[in-house]
Amino acid sequence: MKTRVGARRPSRPTGAKRHPRGDSSRRPEATAEAPLSAAKKVERSVIELPQSLTVKELGELLKVSPAQIIKELLNNGFMANINQTIDYDTAAIVAQDLGFETKEQQTAELGLTEAAEQERIAEDQSALVPRPPVVTIMGHVDHGKTSLLDAIRETNVTAREAGGITQHIGAYQVEIHGQKITFLDTPGHEAFTAMRARGAQATDIAILVVAADDGVMPQTKEAIDHARAANVPIIVALNKIDKPNANPERVKQQLADAGLLIEDWGGNIVCVPVSAKKKQGIEQLLEMILLVSEMGELKANPTGLGRGVIIEAELDKARGPVATMLVQRGTLKVSDNLVVGQVSGKVRAMFNDRGKSLRKAEPSTPVKILGLSEVPKAGDTFEVVGDERTGRLIAANRAKQKQAELATAQRAVTLDELFSQIQTGQVKELNIILKTDVQGSIDPIRSSLERLSTDSVKVKIIHQATGNITESDVLLAQASKAIIIGFSVRAEPGARKVADTAKVDVRHYDVIYNLVEDVSKALQGMLEPTYIEVIDGHAEVRQLFKVGKNEVIAGSAVTDGKIGRSDFVRVNRDGKVIFDGKIASLRRFKDDVREVATGYECGIGVEGFNELQPGDVIEAYRKEKAS
Ligand code: GDP
Repeated sequence: MKTRVGARRPSRPTGAKRHPRGDSSRRPEATAEAPLSAAKKVERSVIELPQSLTVKELGELLKVSPAQIIKELLNNGFMANINQTIDYDTAAIVAQDLGFETKEQQTAELGLTEAAEQERIAEDQSALVPRPPVVTIMGHVDHGKTSLLDAIRETNVTAREAGGITQHIGAYQVEIHGQKITFLDTPGHEAFTAMRARGAQATDIAILVVAADDGVMPQTKEAIDHARAANVPIIVALNKIDKPNANPERVKQQLADAGLLIEDWGGNIVCVPVSAKKKQGIEQLLEMILLVSEMGELKANPTGLGRGVIIEAELDKARGPVATMLVQRGTLKVSDNLVVGQVSGKVRAMFNDRGKSLRKAEPSTPVKILGLSEVPKAGDTFEVVGDERTGRLIAANRAKQKQAELATAQRAVTLDELFSQIQTGQVKELNIILKTDVQGSIDPIRSSLERLSTDSVKVKIIHQATGNITESDVLLAQASKAIIIGFSVRAEPGARKVADTAKVDVRHYDVIYNLVEDVSKALQGMLEPTYIEVIDGHAEVRQLFKVGKNEVIAGSAVTDGKIGRSDFVRVNRDGKVIFDGKIASLRRFKDDVREVATGYECGIGVEGFNELQPGDVIEAYRKEKAS
């Protein structure tokens, strides 16, 4: 646990000069760049301390025994054990008491220099070498995604590893003509987009499985849009060609209608007929993957520290957190120190998809590792760091950053804020996901929306379909910074929840004109912000008083919540709303008041409404800008 003692530290002994935050401007430093002149003599040596460290580590840094550190801490009114983590301020006090000057080491700087160095290594063009492509299989349910993944795995076990037992670790590698291909073993565009929504792009090529007897179905179209939104090339695997009712030509036609023009049809999309069941066409499919990957010139630098992404992870009762990770750059080695998201750890053991123990793993290799302190999430990125402490510091720093980010919540694109987002250059394209109740509504809405494109912002429908708004739509919106427009459809409960957390803007309309007008106004910065109602409380009218000529004041009792002077009110009589307006006056006895709480009596005047009666219920509400 990290403890801060600065605040409750007893008053300092006099005479001890301290710079708790390491004010470097006030004293000379013995650095290589600035050798000390004879005039600038330093009696105390300067020590750089991290933002947090253990008592033991502080002892090592200061070259004194941990016992001495503990004693100094005690002198300052703080009890600690040898493994306790203390913060910079505390460590600085101890160090200064022991005759050191202190300077705070910047974690960010530390991370940055390292990151910059890694970036330099990674970008070093001369060191880039081709790497295996990483492939995800997508398509409609029951079109054969799982069967195809199994068929590929079974037919292409590398010769030298044959006999090894296949392990389901979430990804596997096959070899063809001496070249490797990595497959992610969780089929479907949902997993793919969920990873993207977490900021990770692991896939280089999407295989779109379409059953030749069934053709293009809703999830086929969805998969196409998800792959396109991610800019990932698509290869079509025309599956189940063994079936007597397979109709490849019809499927190709449907694909063309869905915007995928395959090579036979004059387009550039590769299409390979396969049968996952009969294991036909598998080799051709793999060859095509290599071809497409060569065109994409997939390269990475295998030197430098390993970096990549978590594919899946779980807690194993016996072995602790177990994670399948895909190395994307550099080389991951056993005993490397890692930061994964906000968690640090060490690679204690590493295995490939056949359970074989590995010492190191190069780019595009999926590996299963043991040694993390917690279970990370799929889509978290990992990086190797120089030592354990750096790992801990970066992880702690990230946790802090995350909190700061949450506080200033990085806003998704919203119609309300679109104009300012365009003005500040954050948005150049308005991505829209359009869900409608019937097919017939799609085209007119789509074309009306696309016509709203201006020079500064392009309106782009990245996915359109009939049916309710699903979780998958929301993930796509999150990953692609899109808004969702529902036309005469609702959001499924799960989708609504995810949208709320991810702050994805979901709009509902029943009239095309309103829909188009809202988007148009948003583009011009003229959209009225949407408001939500917050009910403040209720009051029951007990008796009436006449003031002035016409004005009626209702002597009322606040039955729940509170009534605010600036509230809007609805007057309910016999369960029906008979008037909706604003409060004109709110008084307790003769005094105007700002609000009246539950259990109190007050006089309420309603603007423009003098027909109040005893027994009426006044509902007070506020309008708040929806966030
Ligand atoms: P998924 O939902 O896309 O993962 O589809 P599955 O792999 O579970 O396959 C759905 C069904 O189609 C299963 O009954 C498979 O046996 C069958 N199937 C898959 N591929 C083929 C194929 O090439 N030919 C035939 N005839 N059936 C297949």
